[in-house]
Amino acid sequence: MMIEAIEGIVVKEKTYGESSKILDVYTPNYGIISVLSKGCKKIKSSLRAGSNLLIYGIFHLRYKPDKLSTVTAIDVKSYFKEIKQDIKKISYATYLLELSSNVEKQAKTKEIYFILKNALLKMEQSFDAEALTQIVEFKYLSYLGVMPNVEACNLCGNQTEILTIVPNKGGFICKECYQNEKLYSPKTLKLLRIFSILDLAKIDKLEIPLQEKKEISELLDEYYEDYTGLYLKSRSFLKKLIKFQ
Ligand SMILES: [Zn+2]
Repeated sequence: MMIEAIEGIVVKEKTYGESSKILDVYTPNYGIISVLSKGCKKIKSSLRAGSNLLIYGIFHLRYKPDKLSTVTAIDVKSYFKEIKQDIKKISYATYLLELSSNVEKQAKTKEIYFILKNALLKMEQSFDAEALTQIVEFKYLSYLGVMPNVEACNLCGNQTEILTIVPNKGGFICKECYQNEKLYSPKTLKLLRIFSILDLAKIDKLEIPLQEKKEISELLDEYYEDYTGLYLKSRSFLKKLIKFQ
């Protein structure tokens, strides 16, 4: 059988037998695939270092579609060492792995993989983990079918005098169409627009003021709780963690 070299990120791991693991590897072309890493828990195994959660690398596989593939070698491209040294960062990263796995189930597109990969690489380079997570969460609304219109008033199409964003009205609302809904700051609205078109790989500066972060967090809570139908354990953990800091 052919060995294929496939780029991927380990999004889940579980023990298999005494010395092996089954890894769920998120790949751009095949989506999330389960692979057997045989004997990887043995001290001398060459698969040991790469057979862990949150590893980005090239996986050499005996690839079997719809069956358990076997990994024969792993060239690790990143261990995400910086992330793994910080409880807050690792919580954000773990959440992104779980979120991305769920979004991937809803929409089969490699764009989700690249958003996840680029967000993790930027997090590893010490860009703000919370801001990166907000950008990813906002971008994923598109694959969950609930991306708000952030280009014009969703009711009348007016591109000027945008006043706020209203989830149950599908996005931006202008002065004329406004009916006493919750207001968001102009800066928050501008950031959401930037988030929607931003290429994460090209970020070289990322500073979101606290007030805007808070507003965006509230808005994303509303979307994820009321519109996406996703309940994620790591998300509620993350919310508690941030609250107690
Ligand atoms: Zn309007």
